[in-house]
Amino acid sequence: MAVLHDMTELQRLETIRRDFVTNASHDLQTPISVIRGMVEILLEDPGMLPEKRRHFLERVASQSLRLSAIVRDLLVLSRAESEVAGLERETLDLCEIVGGEVQALAPACEAQDRQLRQLLPEEPLQVTGDAKALREAVSNLLDNVLRYTPAEGRIDVELKREGDQAVIQVADTGIGIESLDQERIFERLYRVDKARSRELAGTGLGLSIVRNTVLAHGGEATVSSTPGAGSTFRVSLPVSPDRVISRRIPPS
Ligand code: ADP
Repeated sequence: MAVLHDMTELQRLETIRRDFVTNASHDLQTPISVIRGMVEILLEDPGMLPEKRRHFLERVASQSLRLSAIVRDLLVLSRAESEVAGLERETLDLCEIVGGEVQALAPACEAQDRQLRQLLPEEPLQVTGDAKALREAVSNLLDNVLRYTPAEGRIDVELKREGDQAVIQVADTGIGIESLDQERIFERLYRVDKARSRELAGTGLGLSIVRNTVLAHGGEATVSSTPGAGSTFRVSLPVSPDRVISRRIPPS
């Protein structure tokens, strides 16, 4: 008797894992090198002029913020990937989650001259899941539209019910995404333009967090986009089955 194992998928997963470790290490190494360099300069020149000193210290501060943003996203992603069983399973109103995140984004939109519109159903739209993880996923989508939509652009956030699915749609009039990149942007650390993402404080992990969280909730996350015209991200989640509310009839 011969037992044959197809190793193709295992090998592919191993390559993805190896690439991820290499890319993540590289991404962590860059801010660490800048911080080390700046601190060495400061230590070597105790009599440095205050403005110059301030300039170096500001770079140390911004690179350490970057470092903690990457580590934070890595932790959130590893939770989203591995703790499917550990996710809370409560009944949530998506109107509250989406509405709350849109509200949190409004001041930044106003300050950066973007129009933000939201269309939410009047009735609660309930799903079963983990409020913190879903808030994080919606917030990542909204952070991106702000990052990749130039001033005077428009952002439309819609929440609706389509059959047994709750659908969150986030559409922007931003830079758009080439079709070859549209599937890849959900991969860990994949960025269309690395320098631009870094400049805008991106970590390349936001959309992997979105997809993993949504998959863990039995849903789907996709994108459609026209380069130069804008993108629409769509997240669908199964609606919680309507619960039968039983009322005790008071004795007459
Ligand atoms: P990042 O932290 O770089 O934004 P993400 O995982 O959130 O990482 O997104 C991956 C890449 O997808 C981004 O670097 C960017 O190239 C592209 N992208 C994400 N959202 C948008 C958007 N709304 N419009 C255009 N490109 C986007």
